[in-house]
Amino acid sequence: MTCNMMDIYGLLLEDGGHQHWWPGETAFEVAVGAVLTQNTSFSGVTRAIDRMKAAGLMSPAAIVAAPDDVVGLAIRPSGYFNIKTARLKALCRFLLENDAADPASLARFPVPLLRRMLLGVHGVGRETADSIILYATNRPIFVIDAYTRRIFSRMGLVQADSDYDVLRTFFEKSLPCDAAVYNDFHAQIVRCAKECCRKRPICDKCVLRQSCRTGMAEA
Ligand code: SF4
Repeated sequence: MTCNMMDIYGLLLEDGGHQHWWPGETAFEVAVGAVLTQNTSFSGVTRAIDRMKAAGLMSPAAIVAAPDDVVGLAIRPSGYFNIKTARLKALCRFLLENDAADPASLARFPVPLLRRMLLGVHGVGRETADSIILYATNRPIFVIDAYTRRIFSRMGLVQADSDYDVLRTFFEKSLPCDAAVYNDFHAQIVRCAKECCRKRPICDKCVLRQSCRTGMAEA
């Protein structure tokens, strides 16, 4: 039974191949997706982004200039569209104020400072901020989500209700400081949760079974 994080990543990588995340064409699309995916599935986000493109809303300036109801109509498939319109506009204003219409340029800020800046934006919590830092600026910070909590608590490696930053630090200390590893590991976690470690886990399909307290117990 391995508890080595790189070994666990290796098992997932060997099983599913590199996931080539984030599913977005540009850094701005990634940042938009990080807001829209809050409390919803990514399929709704994809539909919302397609509608934003069709409406000419895929730039910070266009979103800030558009009436709220126009933005809300475009992002409706992502759910909570009134709340997310306000959040999207706040993020876009932040990007424009920081000369970062292309959010990849936020990489010029040190990660701790950038994280504090993002957390000051209306509606940007830790998971959203870290998703933007990792996937839009390609800087190393580990993203924690509900899937991460589910898999690694079932494995017996973390407490499911641990504080976000306690979990993030745990992963970052257990892995090399490498954005490429953080990027694909998180994507593998999402894939594993969708394919095997569902609400009701399908452990006999899971490559982590030999490393997992729950999977071993069910053998
Ligand atoms: S073995 Fe089962 S409980 Fe453990 S990670 Fe895989 S699916 Fe989840």
